[in-house]
Order: sequence, then C-alpha cells, then structure tokens
Amino acid sequence: MCGEANSRLEGKVRWRWSLRSAAVAAESDMRLQRRVGRAAEDALAEHEFVSPIDVLCGLGWLHPSNVERWRRGAPAVLEDVVFIEPARIATAIGLLQAWASERGLQPSEHPYPAASRTPRELRFSASGDPELEQAYKTHWLSPDLNQTQRARLTERAARRPDLVVIEPQKAFTCSVCGAEQTGLLIMEDPGPVCMACADMDHLVFLARGDTALTRRARAASGLSAIVVRFSRARKRYERQGILVEADALERVEAECLADEQARARRRERDTLRRAEQDLDLQERIAGEICCLFPGCPRERASEIARHTAVRGSGRVGRSAAGRALQSEAIELAVLASVRHRDTRYDELLMSGVDRATARARVGDEVASTLRAWRTAPPSAHAPRPDPKQS
Ligand SMILES: [Zn+2]
Repeated sequence: MCGEANSRLEGKVRWRWSLRSAAVAAESDMRLQRRVGRAAEDALAEHEFVSPIDVLCGLGWLHPSNVERWRRGAPAVLEDVVFIEPARIATAIGLLQAWASERGLQPSEHPYPAASRTPRELRFSASGDPELEQAYKTHWLSPDLNQTQRARLTERAARRPDLVVIEPQKAFTCSVCGAEQTGLLIMEDPGPVCMACADMDHLVFLARGDTALTRRARAASGLSAIVVRFSRARKRYERQGILVEADALERVEAECLADEQARARRRERDTLRRAEQDLDLQERIAGEICCLFPGCPRERASEIARHTAVRGSGRVGRSAAGRALQSEAIELAVLASVRHRDTRYDELLMSGVDRATARARVGDEVASTLRAWRTAPPSAHAPRPDPKQS
C-alpha cells in the first residue's frame, strides 16, 4: 500500500518535472525560432535564398571562414566546426524548414561539390543521416524569383569551387609523403598536402594585379588554383595570385601582347581621324572668318581658326541652330587674336598692368583693326607697321 503511494507520488513528481522541463524547452525553442527567423530574413534579403548554412552562420554557431575551410576539404564534416550539439542543429534546421514553408519559399536541392582535386560531395552531419544531409542541401528560394533567376542560382551552386592553395607561414609536414615542406600546400582530409603529392608542382605562379591576364590564364589552363596567404593583421586569407599551367600562361601572355599592339594601332587610327575632323573644322572656321572679316589676310584667318578649333571646338563647331552664337564666338576669337598679336596687350600684362586696364588701353587699336578687316579686302589694306617694334 505504502509502496504504491510512493510510486504514485514519484510519478506525480516525475510528471511535474517533465512538464517543467518541457516548458523550458518550449521557451528555448521559441527563442531559437525567433533567432532562426531573423537569420533567415537576413540571408533572404542578401541573396534571395536561404540555406541551413546561412542560418547556422547567422546564429553565430558557425564561422564563415570554417565554411570556406570545409569546402576546401578539411574538416571533412561541417558539424565538426559548428559550436553546438548536433541535436540542437537539427532543431534549428527543422525550424528553418517550417519558417520557409510558411512563407511560400521554394525548396531546391543544391549540390555541394568539394573544392578538391578529386570531385566529391561534401559531408555535413556527424551522423551522416541521409535525411539530415538532404535537409542541409536544401536551399529555400524567394518566391519573387523568376525561372531564369532560379536557374542561375542553381547553376552557380553546382559550379565546383576554385581550388585553393595556401602559402604557409611556416614549414609543414605533408600528410601524403610525410616530408617536412616549406612550399605551397593544399588542405585535404586528413591534413596539408605538398604540391608534388597533389600533382600540382607543374603549375606556375602568376601574381595578382593583371586582371585580364589572370582571367584569361585561368580560362586557358586545364588546372588552376587560387593562392592565398593568411594575414595575421586582417585575420583572413588574402589572395596572392593564381597557379596555372605554364604553356597556358605563355599562350595568353602572347595574346595579351597582341591585343596591346592592336589597341596601339587603334589608338593611332583614332588620332588620325580626330586630326582629320579637326582639319575639317578649321577650314570651316577659316571660311567663316573670311566671310565676317573679308579684310583679314587668308593665312591669318587660317591661323586663328587653327587656334580656335583646338581650344573651343565644342563651342565654335556648332550646328546651324547655333549659327548666331557661332559667329559671335568667331568674332571673339578674331578679337582675341588681334589683341594678342597686333597690340602691346601681352607686353602690358607682363609689365604688371591689370587685364581690364590693358584691354582699355588697346581697345581703340583693336577696334580699328577689326573695322578695317570687316570692310576692306586684304589687297586694299596696306601692311601695318608692327606695333611691337614701334
Ligand atoms: Zn608530399
């Protein structure tokens, strides 16, 4: 009887305890649900889809640099670098699925190829449970995406990431040959591999800097890799250049050189064409000057035109609509020429006379020359004494 009561009491306590822990768990799940929602929201805003990896990073459980390392091959299992127990991770992924389905996001399974020499799929979970692996690979796409955008996202995800080679800070032991090495390495499971063991020692290094050459060399090279070095100051890997096949590099270098020459030839042609256009413009301006100033010597008109076409072609070379302005501009050009060439104006400026005063002083002289040019034909106009010699 007594034992029976005890066990009933025990059951009650146990029941109450489990109720309490369930409440705690529910509350913590709700908190997690909110955090998952926020992380998903952020990822969706950033790239129009959300993946479990986005959420784990958003929750602060996984560092993006560890995702990068994992994609390069070490660690072999992503969950090894997630700072939370697998059960909790599974809960978060479940919450993401619920969140995404509720909002009408489209599930789409994305491949995760490793950035390793031998193509293989990456592994996410410690358990290797197929259902969980699939959940990890499911990206949730924004319902706003159209067919093309969706296809582009899928295509990008399927692309094998670039091979990454590391320039180490210190010597390392190759996990294949076991020798102590100082050169470049590639991270694989279970550890660093030297270039010889990775069959990559035939590649040559091309330092970063020439974008066009880099892009072409990578496209031309059957095998290529990005070379990075860890910056202690910035706490991240930084690109140093690429490794490519030697003959591919030689080939594209020759192409780039040929392009350089082609560009130089085009520049020459452009200069010639521009010069021709200038000549045409000069002739038109000289014609205008002779029209407005029949007394102006022809060579002088050409000289003024040459000068004006170089400096203010945009203004003088206007179309018929700007005819009035054009003749005004031409008059100004002729006036300036007379002022500088036929009077002591420049001398006055050089001697420290201010511009307004100097202009006033030579004003009459300029006006009389312009008047003469406007009316008299050049033959009727007696050669004037050079004022600079008087
Ligand atoms: Zn080795």
